[in-house]
Amino acid sequence: MDHKPSGSTLPWAEPPWYTGHPSPYYNESHVKLRGFVRKWVEDNVAEHVEEWERQGIVPDEAYQKFARDGFIVPMACGNSIPKEFSNYPIVAGIKAEDWNGFHDLVMWDEIFRGAQSISSAFVGLVVGAPPLKMYASPTLQARVLPEILTGQKRMCLAITEPSAGSDVKNIQTTAEKTADGKYYITTVRTGGPGPAGMSMLLIPRLPGLKTRKIEIGAGGMGATTYVTFEDVKVPVEYLVGQEGLGFKYTMSNFNHERLFMAFQAVRSARTCLMDAMVWCLKRETFGQKLIEQPVVRHKFGHMARQVDALQAWMESIIYELDHLSHAKGSQLLGGATGLLKVQAGIVIKYVSDECVKLMGGLGLTKTGQGARIEAISRGANAFLVPGGSEDILLDLGVREALKLSFKAEKARL
Ligand SMILES: Cc1cc2nc3c(=O)[nH]c(=O)nc-3n(C[C@H](O)[C@H](O)[C@H](O)COP(=O)(O)OP(=O)(O)OC[C@H]3O[C@@H](n4cnc5c(N)ncnc54)[C@H](O)[C@@H]3O)c2cc1C
Repeated sequence: MDHKPSGSTLPWAEPPWYTGHPSPYYNESHVKLRGFVRKWVEDNVAEHVEEWERQGIVPDEAYQKFARDGFIVPMACGNSIPKEFSNYPIVAGIKAEDWNGFHDLVMWDEIFRGAQSISSAFVGLVVGAPPLKMYASPTLQARVLPEILTGQKRMCLAITEPSAGSDVKNIQTTAEKTADGKYYITTVRTGGPGPAGMSMLLIPRLPGLKTRKIEIGAGGMGATTYVTFEDVKVPVEYLVGQEGLGFKYTMSNFNHERLFMAFQAVRSARTCLMDAMVWCLKRETFGQKLIEQPVVRHKFGHMARQVDALQAWMESIIYELDHLSHAKGSQLLGGATGLLKVQAGIVIKYVSDECVKLMGGLGLTKTGQGARIEAISRGANAFLVPGGSEDILLDLGVREALKLSFKAEKARL
């Protein structure tokens, strides 16, 4: 389709298709979604976001408005919305059966454009809901999903422990079945050592479960929390899927989490490019505008080539995931999505650092023309570790690629 320009006309401030370039990925419903979300965020989020940052939370009423206006179901689902969820509102009136990975990207991209720090408030939902949707029994889903999808309850995915982060197989928290078989007493290792002993439990706020917020430098809305489970009595019906498959469920959940981080990195990088370009077009030093200095244009060139390449790679992975089953997508693209997330972290770190320098002192002030760049550069390290750290994902990407290559070679013999 022919795309009319939308958003800023400054170079690299928007994805290429926003500026009128043709793209095979987007249709009328993506355009409709883009317009709806942009206006909705302007009307309902933009003026509150600073206050929410100070409070350290999106208040319940606002969170529930996200649900009423159709954001929570897509956030919980990623690139496809099951038809059973058609009864819930879906943003911009998009039909569940029409929703795809590019709707997911457009929705988040427009949210991040208006409120770059807000992602943290929804991370628990984005990474916690998919295993429930995919693996929990119909009874458990019927019991808990309505409250989650209407924004009455929030959730998180608690894997990392003080003694095990990258090394997920070695988590220590244990859960034992009671003699009558009706309860697990606290998550998560339900068997022996290693992955086969791991299960996934949904644990409501029962006696023995305590939480304490951990402050993160990246922004006030960070939902990172220290959770302890002490003799929590979890009904056996709250086991997600099958006992012993917790490690598999955890691993198969990462594609979307890592893509989601890439969405955020790309928009944050474009925001930096836009604000820095506005500044360099007007700031004069030594009798010239900054943009008139070749060295400044080189900086933009180096940033632009990385951001547009990241966007193109991200879109091709979204397309591939849209055309594969969940299982096949995890198998074929688990490594590639890990490498994409590494690239997203490297790009946002590079771009935000370069833009801080271009802004001069304004790049370090929390108010004024450099405020968004300052906030993004402060949060850039948060792209490097969560969701799999750089070293771990580089290694994973190569191991997965070799595994696929050996398999293909064997099949040819
Ligand atoms: C903002 C934020 C949000 C988070 N959200 C969640 C969440 O929602 N749920 C959750 O469960 N966890 C969450 N985490 C935790 C996060 O997933 C872990 O911090 C991450 O997986 C790394 O684990 P770790 O901190 O234990 O580091 P470690 O595993 O101890 O690693 C430390 C360093 O050593 C490197 N390293 C480790 N092993 C190797 C190796 N074999 N070879 C080479 N290098 C290696 C790593 O790359 C890393 O650089 C969050 C963390 C942050 C900061």
